[in-house]
Amino acid sequence: MIYLDNAGTTKLFDEVIKLCNDMLSEYFFNPSATYPSAVKVAEMINLARATIAKELHCLPEEIYFTSCATEADNWALEYGRKLKNGNVVISAGEHAAIYEAAMRLKSKGVEIRIAALNKDGTVNIKDIERLVDKNTALVSIIHCSNETGVVNDISTISQIVKSKSNAVFHSDGVQAFCKIPVNINDLAVDLYSLSGHKIGAPKGIGALYVKRNMHINPLIVGGGQERGLRSGTENTAGIVAFAKAVEIFNKYCDREKMAQIRNYIITRFRNIANVLINGEEGRNSYFIVSASVFGIKAEVLQNMLYQDGVIIGLGSACSAKSSENRVLSNLGRSKKEIEGNIRLSLSPMISMEEIAVAMEKIEKNINVLRGKI
Ligand code: PLP
Repeated sequence: MIYLDNAGTTKLFDEVIKLCNDMLSEYFFNPSATYPSAVKVAEMINLARATIAKELHCLPEEIYFTSCATEADNWALEYGRKLKNGNVVISAGEHAAIYEAAMRLKSKGVEIRIAALNKDGTVNIKDIERLVDKNTALVSIIHCSNETGVVNDISTISQIVKSKSNAVFHSDGVQAFCKIPVNINDLAVDLYSLSGHKIGAPKGIGALYVKRNMHINPLIVGGGQERGLRSGTENTAGIVAFAKAVEIFNKYCDREKMAQIRNYIITRFRNIANVLINGEEGRNSYFIVSASVFGIKAEVLQNMLYQDGVIIGLGSACSAKSSENRVLSNLGRSKKEIEGNIRLSLSPMISMEEIAVAMEKIEKNINVLRGKI
């Protein structure tokens, strides 16, 4: 099976599975306990925190583990706001974890302002400039789109936000982390969300970067874990596995190879009539290619490819079940184009040979669906 839905979730690295087993069977102790075995687990958590912090170029104490990035995003929106009654600016390209959290704030009376997307898939910076004012409490702009792979210029956006307001600036970094170089100081964000299962760690582990000295209230209260900001007994296996996955992802991730693979996919799509690559002109992650294939139903193509040993995505897993796709419609894609939208998302372990086989099958099945074979 050639698996091309890695932006949905990833297969765990073998080393990560082994480490999870060890954590669950041998190092199962509660890290809050005081006996030596438990202290050892607490140390393992802090080593993991340091690894993730190193990857982001931040301090270990700026990392708070959560149950997933959805929690981190919800936390940022709910409690990151400085002016409790101020407006909140997001973009039309946000993941549902931000978009729905913003809609919930709206239902509580918070004014939500939504910045438009450019044709190339990036967030319209002029629109952000127009929407942010001195009453803005928080701005949240996705770093790398889970739909198109387009990368937003977060540091420029941050400069604009900070020059116009005292707003807290959050970015969802789930699809950027480990996949494009991320230096939190250059991005100049206050909050940044991460997820483990997009890079070879298990599902159910995420993190929120909280800039030092920034005050944020906890979303979940209780036993005071994570220095009082995220209660709940730590997902010890998930946390340690997350850090291990970062190390292994980096070990296998050859950015040059990934660039070649992405270019190859795009070239192959260009040779098929009536295929539009979404966000092709923008700055892109090498790990996602989103293509609108005219005149077919993506779900049918997905089923045919599954039979042929290739798994592809239909867009983000959260929007895959709905015929509406908020992000792609905001890019100006028609209903017909969205119906034929597929998303190929890569892991660093993929080879050019596998991609060549997958593209052969994708082309063949598109031709079958179009009645050409
Ligand atoms: N943000 C983005 C950009 C994502 O792609 C995802 C996962 O699809 C999430 C947030 C949610 O992550 P999690 O599954 O860890 O809650």
